Amino acid sequence: MKQLLVEIEDYAQEKNVPIIEKKSIAFIMKYIKEHNVKNILEIGSAIGYSAILMASCKDDVFITTIERDEERYMECLKNVKKCGLDKKINVVFQDALDVNLSADLKYDLIFIDAAKGQYTKFFEKYKYFLKNDGVIITDNIKFHGYVGKSSDIESKNLKGLVQKIENYINFLKENQEFDTKFYDIGDGLSVSTWKNEK
Ligand code: SAH
Ligand code: MG
Repeated sequence: MKQLLVEIEDYAQEKNVPIIEKKSIAFIMKYIKEHNVKNILEIGSAIGYSAILMASCKDDVFITTIERDEERYMECLKNVKKCGLDKKINVVFQDALDVNLSADLKYDLIFIDAAKGQYTKFFEKYKYFLKNDGVIITDNIKFHGYVGKSSDIESKNLKGLVQKIENYINFLKENQEFDTKFYDIGDGLSVSTWKNEK
């Protein structure tokens, strides 16, 4: 298992796949154990690194993870199988904004780690699938330190993307339904829970 993880890390490095930072996944794994999280929905599987770590941190964790890039999806399937986790991780090959989950599915944890420009859309779409005592965790809310500094950025694309993350942060801060804590861990994590556990 450890060797397989190192191989996945090396592959990510080689192919420029943005996998989660070690400190961030450690935080999430601790959260999973402390809050007895069982059902997880992940938006953005990449090659399965975060899903594999979340699935292996506790016996009764089940994950549905969504990936729209075919090459990464295939690599993810392969890695999940190699780790013997295909009974605990269900990989879906689709754009997360097009997925139709059955309305009775509810998750303890929704992990948003896909296109940074679409964070608010993912949040608004998937909050309906969050349990009353569930949590939505988002990765990369610092975006390599650019967030909060969009006015200094010259590249138009980068500036636009960073502004979208800044908008997402404001959306969370002003949200009437959710309370959000922001953590300066790894590339920045946000942790959102329903206000007064509906
Ligand atoms: N969670 C992974 C890293 C994910 S990287 C880990 O830490 O190991 C982000 C991934 O989200 C990319 O592979 C990208 O293809 C995918 N992605 C981006 N937008 C998406 C969308 N709308 N639907 C599904 N996947 C998406
Ligand atoms: Mg990430």
